[in-house]
This record gives sequence, C-alpha cells and structure tokens, in this order.
Amino acid sequence: MNKSTILNEILEHNENFVKNHEYEKYETTKFPNKRMVILTCMDTRLLELLPKALNMGNGDAKLIKDAGGLVSHPFGSVMRSILIAVYELQAQEVLVIAHYDCGMSGLKAEPVIENMKERGITQETIDTLIYSGIDIHQWLHGFDNVTESVEHSVDIIKHHPLMPEGIPVHGLVIDPKTGKLDLVVDGYDN
Ligand SMILES: [Zn+2]
Repeated sequence: MNKSTILNEILEHNENFVKNHEYEKYETTKFPNKRMVILTCMDTRLLELLPKALNMGNGDAKLIKDAGGLVSHPFGSVMRSILIAVYELQAQEVLVIAHYDCGMSGLKAEPVIENMKERGITQETIDTLIYSGIDIHQWLHGFDNVTESVEHSVDIIKHHPLMPEGIPVHGLVIDPKTGKLDLVVDGYDN
C-alpha cells in the first residue's frame, strides 16, 4: 500500500464514521472507569487483543504505549504520563504489561544504527551525538529478558520520588497470540 493510499483511506473512512454517528457507542469520559493506567507495548498484535484479554472497553483505562512497554527514563514522557494519570485523571493502580516475542527483546543498537546509515544518516551525525554526551547505543538498546524488564519498570514507577503512597504497581507479561497473562509483580504484595 503506498503512502497516499493509507491517508486517503483513513480520511475517507473517517468522514463516513462521523457522518453515520458510529462514534456514539464509544462515548465515555476522560476518567478511567476502572481507575487504572496501563503501560504496554506498541506491538500490532496487542491493538485489540490486549483490551479484550483484560475485559476492557472504551473508557476503562488510561493506556500508554511505547516500544517494549517500558519506562526507559524516570523523567521521560512515559513516566510523566503515568504521574498525570494518577494525579489528574483518577488512576489508582498502575499495570505494566510487556509481552513475549517483543521486537525490543534482544534488540541491539548496532544493527539499528547500520539501518540508519543505509537510510542516509551519516557516521558524522552519530559521532556528533556521542561527542555531545548522548549514549545512543544505550538509548537504542532493547532488553535481554522480558521478565526483568517488567520488574525494572515496576521498580522505577514504584520508587519514583513523585509517586504518591498507596498506588499498587503490577507487572505482567502477555502472550501476543493467546492473550494469556503471566503475573510478574503483584502490586498488592508490598
Ligand atoms: Zn513489543
């Protein structure tokens, strides 16, 4: 599918969607009915599967997605989103849900940088970043073990200096085929 086709199809569909009032069955508020914020991966297989597997409909949760479903920086946009969900949007629990067979699993920076160079990014640019103090290899590195990655993100969230007391932070791993959840950290335990 070429680029212009994708956008045109979206806009065409959207016009009918609005005209036919198809949005009505999704009407809800910005506050999550189930009072939770979920951090998960941007994986395509989870788009519909994850909400169904957790019995979530529109309006039930605040949903944050990134590559790997992880908090890579305690003051990045993911952590900020979690804090906003807790302080401003009535979320009372946090769920970190990574998944098996994740694209970030075993991802090394080097091949990504090689791909960048093939697409026109010069070594000079990479060097400039490195000499500016940006650890691009660390930044692009995925994780080696999904369970450890979940534990690490839960740990960052739970012990974040701006996180209030009494917010359970759970960690889980989902099977991207069956939707089965494996519990890694039970946030009620501590
Ligand atoms: Zn993933």
